[in-house]
Amino acid sequence: MNRERYVTACPVGCSAGFTTTDIVLPEGPLLRCGSCGQLVSQCTEAEYLDSLERFDTAAGTLPGMESAARHEQVSVRRLRKMLTLLGKEPGQVRLLDVGCSSGAFLMSARKVGFDTTGVEPSAEAAETARRAGLNVFTGFLEAARFPDGAFDAATLVEVIEHLRDPRSLLAECRRVLKPGGILLVTTPNAASWTARIMKSRWDGFGLKAMGGHISFFNPRSIEMIAERTGYELVRVETRNVRFFERGHCPNAIYVAAKIASEFLNWPSRLLGTGHDLLACLRVRE
Ligand SMILES: [Zn+2]
Repeated sequence: MNRERYVTACPVGCSAGFTTTDIVLPEGPLLRCGSCGQLVSQCTEAEYLDSLERFDTAAGTLPGMESAARHEQVSVRRLRKMLTLLGKEPGQVRLLDVGCSSGAFLMSARKVGFDTTGVEPSAEAAETARRAGLNVFTGFLEAARFPDGAFDAATLVEVIEHLRDPRSLLAECRRVLKPGGILLVTTPNAASWTARIMKSRWDGFGLKAMGGHISFFNPRSIEMIAERTGYELVRVETRNVRFFERGHCPNAIYVAAKIASEFLNWPSRLLGTGHDLLACLRVRE
């Protein structure tokens, strides 16, 4: 059967070819860029669109009650990081959250005192955010036509791994940010211990499980895409290690693996091998 791949070139913009990896998914093995190490899915466009569809819900990525407190803690930590990098008080910062879903991160930002705006292509999730009183545009960032330099800071939380062409989005973020503005990006780390050990068992690589994950960054490919789209990389941080997804193994093994992974969290941060990657980019002046 002749399958036409949706992602045919390195999303980071390299001209090197792909090699096949031993991470074998239902859509075929992930491919690795020979230059930056980016991993990409072999899914077709139809499979990609199908995986996105079921994530268009009113709840969006609003955290459940049990994870709301943890989510808030992580959000506030990221917001403080941005303030430090900008050298500003919350009331002085116009923040744009691109792919804001139902608005959980924007609500945390508003609580801290940021002036917040969101963009979200999923109509139902965007409507949920607006009902909470948030200023959210339904559609893709380019369609919102914000003026040049409208924002001090922007966030792409778990967005770029869904895109065939993340460079055009990063370029549009740069346009709507002020010179010296900060773009905070989070994405799964394909060079993590979790990815290397779990391979296809890792939810991060799942096309369907994660609503269209097709492109997997590592600290080096993040740095390269930042340079190619007009940013300087201020810092990259990674954290967290996992060996089993909950419910995919006997509970006793899951608990033992969980304890082992807690011990590995600190070294993973030092070595850039945690599976949650956070990059702070600054618009070149
Ligand atoms: Zn590449």
